[in-house]
Amino acid sequence: MRVRFAPSPTGALHIGGARTALFNWLLARRHNGTFLLRIEDTDRERSTPENVEQILDALRWLQLDWDEGPVFQGERADRHHEALEALLNGGHAYRSSATAADVAAYKSLHGAERGFRGEGWAGNQKEGAVRLRVPAGGATVVHDVIRGDTRFEHVHLDDPVIARADGSVLYNFAVAIDDLDAHITHVVRGEDHLSNTPKQLLVLQAAKAVGFGADAPEPLYAHLPLLHGPDGKKLSKRHGAASVQELREAGYLPEAVRNYLALLGWGSGDDATVMSTDELVKRFELERVSRNPARFDEIKLRWLDGIYIRELSVPELADRVLDFLRIADPAAASAAEADRDLLEGAVAISREKIHTLADFWPLARFFFTGIAEDASARERWLGEQGVSMLNDARTELSSAVSFDVPAVEAALASVVERHAVKPREVYQPVRVAIAGTTISPGIFESVALLGREETLRRIDVALAG
Ligand code: GLU
Repeated sequence: MRVRFAPSPTGALHIGGARTALFNWLLARRHNGTFLLRIEDTDRERSTPENVEQILDALRWLQLDWDEGPVFQGERADRHHEALEALLNGGHAYRSSATAADVAAYKSLHGAERGFRGEGWAGNQKEGAVRLRVPAGGATVVHDVIRGDTRFEHVHLDDPVIARADGSVLYNFAVAIDDLDAHITHVVRGEDHLSNTPKQLLVLQAAKAVGFGADAPEPLYAHLPLLHGPDGKKLSKRHGAASVQELREAGYLPEAVRNYLALLGWGSGDDATVMSTDELVKRFELERVSRNPARFDEIKLRWLDGIYIRELSVPELADRVLDFLRIADPAAASAAEADRDLLEGAVAISREKIHTLADFWPLARFFFTGIAEDASARERWLGEQGVSMLNDARTELSSAVSFDVPAVEAALASVVERHAVKPREVYQPVRVAIAGTTISPGIFESVALLGREETLRRIDVALAG
């Protein structure tokens, strides 16, 4: 089995493209096949080196390693030209200077449904664009693993233009020759390419007939269903993160993204199942991909990401958080890095509460950079009653025999009991004192991690303020 992912580097790698890459990769890994990367950079203006690098980087981040390539389509122009000449010489293609108006005239005479044939029609056959000769009768049948057979009657297909008058080949021609030369066995790509497939098959067959890729297989096709947002509309920027880069910047783990993308259009029907990459590889089946549009829902991805976060060991998660912060917030990264024990401690007590790597710092930064400035939290919780609770809490915490989580809990519980108040009437003032805000990991864990000295110091500052 030989599959390929063939992005056009005209921008970032979108979520749909990433799913296509992943399905190809899963298929190759499942069948001990080869996964080839081809960069379709024939749109010279929009295909920049930065875009190429961005796509490679996104694939690396997702750990979708390729076995061959990247092959640059633009570098294969000579080979394309050679194939084009062979088709012209073999009578499978012809030149035609017919214009759009000529084609329209043809259609008004023969009917709009009738495929355009340029030979013997307007213009001459010495110069102009190159058209492929579609066989007179019969049909081209696309065998699609997901969608079944689609039959394209030749009588309805225009002789497709495969090269411009200057000899530069068109997209469908280049793709077909590249797939042939690479001995691709399965073409797995987005549904939007279905209508290109008969043209590509006709090019393939004509090329084979003149000895190109004579021993190459005719690939099987699989067109993946579109991706929709949760509102049932085509996935776009409106739905939130639209590219792999944005998911990365939002703090998702690549393994969770991979898992989630794998379920888009494939799976047991339950659209949020935790499956390790090994399991995905073992279970992936192209035949089970649905034809219906799949829904990308960032809320489900967040949920899944939280599960993956909690599966990581504390040191591993601490490393991931640091890697994330180094790019997202270098100052935060240096602060977090300065005290490894504190970092691991903060990670250990935060991981039940976070869904992405980006959630960590807002929740735990007060351990590293002092309290947050949240005037409304102070106003709400450090009024007369709050200050009085805080005073008592300070007394209990300063005299606690030890300062581990149970000791802190016992100290604060005794204040709650003595005043017969709701727990939060004590915990929130303490929380605001040590964190500056009402958002933090568990209060006992936070106080214990901060340690007696620093906790009392922060309470004193709060009491003085
Ligand atoms: N370059 C095309 C794209 O980015 C993919 C073509 C193909 O997979 O055949 O949509």
